[in-house]
Amino acid sequence: MITQERPDTPLAAAGRKPVVNDPDNTAWRWPVFDAEDKAAVAQVLERPGRELYAEMALFEKELCEYFDCRYALSTNNGTAAIHSAMHAIGLAPGDEIITPSYTYWATSLAARLCGAIPIFADVQPDSANIDPADIARKITPRTKAIIVTHLWGMPCEMAEIVSLAHRYNLKVIEDASHAHGAEYHGRKIGTWGDAGCFSMQASKLLPSIEGGFLLTNDSDLYAKACALGHYTRVPADHDWANLNSTGLGYKYRIHPCATALARVRLRKLDEQNRVINRRVEKVIARLEQLHGLRSFPVPSGMRRVYYQFEMIYDERATGIPKQKVIDSLMAEGARVAHERYPLQHEQPVYRRSEFWTRPPEPPASLPACEEIIPKIIQLPTFATCKERVVDEYIAAFEKVWANLKTLAV
Ligand SMILES: *Cc1c(COP(=O)(O)O)cnc(C)c1O
Repeated sequence: MITQERPDTPLAAAGRKPVVNDPDNTAWRWPVFDAEDKAAVAQVLERPGRELYAEMALFEKELCEYFDCRYALSTNNGTAAIHSAMHAIGLAPGDEIITPSYTYWATSLAARLCGAIPIFADVQPDSANIDPADIARKITPRTKAIIVTHLWGMPCEMAEIVSLAHRYNLKVIEDASHAHGAEYHGRKIGTWGDAGCFSMQASKLLPSIEGGFLLTNDSDLYAKACALGHYTRVPADHDWANLNSTGLGYKYRIHPCATALARVRLRKLDEQNRVINRRVEKVIARLEQLHGLRSFPVPSGMRRVYYQFEMIYDERATGIPKQKVIDSLMAEGARVAHERYPLQHEQPVYRRSEFWTRPPEPPASLPACEEIIPKIIQLPTFATCKERVVDEYIAAFEKVWANLKTLAV
């Protein structure tokens, strides 16, 4: 049952019953593991020692089938996959890699592990993804590669980015940790660059609690990624195969229980994305009718997924501060939040020269991301809740908007 009240009745903040009846916060509940997931993990624990790792090869084969690519290398987390990709493309001390600032720290900070320098690019305001025009401006003779993040599940402009990379002979790494199952012009995200890196940390769309993987069609890149963190796995015909007794000093092998869980979750990924997309799109269709609220438009040719669901609130259009709107939504039981990623170019680690082969010199300002982030309202993705809760969130927004004038100071 949705609210019986008219949308313009006084807000719950003023002492009425909240519109959203979700005391256990099921709107945000993720991940939820079912009996099949649990059985897959339990099965691993029953195996004799030498068979404990049997599922790793199966999982990697299934990844290649799902993503339609030649090589998949599972890792103990997404950060390890990114480090492996950077190493495997030959990123070397002093090299520059162009990266978004608006992303999780692993995207840009992994460059440090190769002695390389992250160069921060700004975003496109319509997607909050890295801006190809700003990438082009930041290319120097030292630039070796570009890493992009498909932020919150929205594909980056891969055709433009890949063609820019070809023009300047740069490698492209995709951090696809938010975008399991997304597509760009019919091809899976994570297979557009030289390497695609994915996290399977618990919050991600393909959760193995901890875990990750790297995808590539390049046999040399794959072999070098194996050498970094997977001793014994360099293919015999590769020049680095004689490193197989040691590797290069890291150990990035995935946990067998995580592999078992990931195999089951991969089979459910498309259906789960369909549920999330349908619910989020239903919310967007209604909330975009509200003055001063809009979503990130999905360009044609892109199939985005929702690792996170964000809308943009323009307080100049309504005259009501975002914090007041959030407080009112929360009082109605709709749990919404400000954006959560700190911008990388503002972080102290990039300003402490002792950790770098040469000081990174991050930009003082990246105006487009600094402008968009304060406007973001983060909503749940409704991945596992009852449909009723989705409708109640819509009702809560409509009620707050019907009362917006009463929030003016
Ligand atoms: C989660 C995440 C990572 C890191 O993955 P871990 O598995 O936590 O190491 C990297 N990049 C992005 C964009 C992420 O969201």
